[in-house]
Amino acid sequence: MKVLVVGTGYVGLVTGVCLASFGHDVVCVDQDWQKIARLNMGECPIYEDGLEPLLREQLLANRLSFDTAISDSTDCDIALIAVGTPPRNDGSADLASVFEVVSELGHKLKQGAFIGTKSTVPVGTAHSIETFLESMGRQDIRVVSIPEFLREGSALSDTLQPSRLIFGVPDEESLRVLEELHRPLEVPVVACNRATAEMIKYASNAFLATKISFINEIANICERVGADVQQVSQGMGLDPRIGSSFLRAGLGYGGSCFPKDTRALVNIAGDVAYDFKLLKAVVEVNQRQRTEPIRRLRQWFGDLSHIRVTLLGVAFKPGTNDIRESPALEIGERLRSQGAQVQFYDPVVTRFQLQSQEFVRVLDDPYMALEHADAAIIVTEWPEIVDLDWARVGAVMRRRLVFDGRNVLDPAALEEAGFLIENFGFHPAL
Ligand code: NAD
Repeated sequence: MKVLVVGTGYVGLVTGVCLASFGHDVVCVDQDWQKIARLNMGECPIYEDGLEPLLREQLLANRLSFDTAISDSTDCDIALIAVGTPPRNDGSADLASVFEVVSELGHKLKQGAFIGTKSTVPVGTAHSIETFLESMGRQDIRVVSIPEFLREGSALSDTLQPSRLIFGVPDEESLRVLEELHRPLEVPVVACNRATAEMIKYASNAFLATKISFINEIANICERVGADVQQVSQGMGLDPRIGSSFLRAGLGYGGSCFPKDTRALVNIAGDVAYDFKLLKAVVEVNQRQRTEPIRRLRQWFGDLSHIRVTLLGVAFKPGTNDIRESPALEIGERLRSQGAQVQFYDPVVTRFQLQSQEFVRVLDDPYMALEHADAAIIVTEWPEIVDLDWARVGAVMRRRLVFDGRNVLDPAALEEAGFLIENFGFHPAL
């Protein structure tokens, strides 16, 4: 098939590269010309395991190309929209880029082509796109919803071996087209109407966020009653009805999806006069969790204006260089506003990425970043951080205080090395 992918971010780029590897003829378009220039040279602008070699392979095989604009003579069978849908101030999803692309596609797509939304869009968007196209006289274009579930850090394997495919379609013929597009994948398919597909995406993210905030609430109670949340998680997770994933207590979720999608779903519910109380609480708990290290540091030091804090990890999770809604940046900004000196270390996030935020000093060497620090906070559980030489860390810090924001360190071992360790509801086994 001839496929056009608009937007070459995490979703669009990985989708385009994988579809090319399935044998389709793929053109990826992005308005960011610098990104396109790098991609045309076979350089991957994002940090994602295994993506760059596959990208180069598909470029060399002439199945994949990149452009800064949708060609007037595009003859694609299906155009996939993978542009951003950032949150507006009220939490709702901003669809300006999506409709900008739809408008252009309405002028340029051949008769009978399909448009698929990969971007996360509010329930009812496929229908709105269809109505918009009709107003342009394009009743011939069919709109399908193909929500994306890849995780940054394992985006390639998630796309090549997804847990399921969700096809939101208006008719049987559209379903056949989506089956053809994903042909080599032998995974469960849920074929449904488009509103259902759009809701599956939001409900999935909201549910995972709920698990995280739930275990964080349990951790906070554990701390007060002398229970160990790590063992509580283990004991709960062994029940197959519950499952062990997303049950690690800590600083909560960040990134470009969960914070945005939870708020958007609260908003979608509000639009139909439904008060989604549970999800509102999930969002609130997550926000409170993020500020917990600051509350504890104040307990230790009182005034923070004379202390130096090192934040270990800037990416919102390991395996990616994505810093959108990074807990580290928010914690750093709050500490700084209270007068603390803040330094950062991350194994992949670069100074270049953060140059617009002047106060952020990211160092490549963790031990240099920790020099003379009064406290360290583990924000991202990169192996490079968990496996630091803690004796060496102890030798360079001014005070040996570590706040383990991801519950990944062995408190007993660190205490033995002379550290004071704080974490979320986690005590060494008695
Ligand atoms: P991103 O910000 O990494 O990429 C979006 C790209 O679209 C950018 O490169 C931008 O330049 C380009 N773009 C914006 N407007 C354009 C236009 N008019 N024409 C051409 N290009 C344009 O975003 P992302 O993380 O890939 O997310 C895209 C969508 O997929 C969002 O709706 C997101 O919620 C959803 N999603 C993301 C993930 C994830 O893990 N990142 C997972 C599932 C779903």
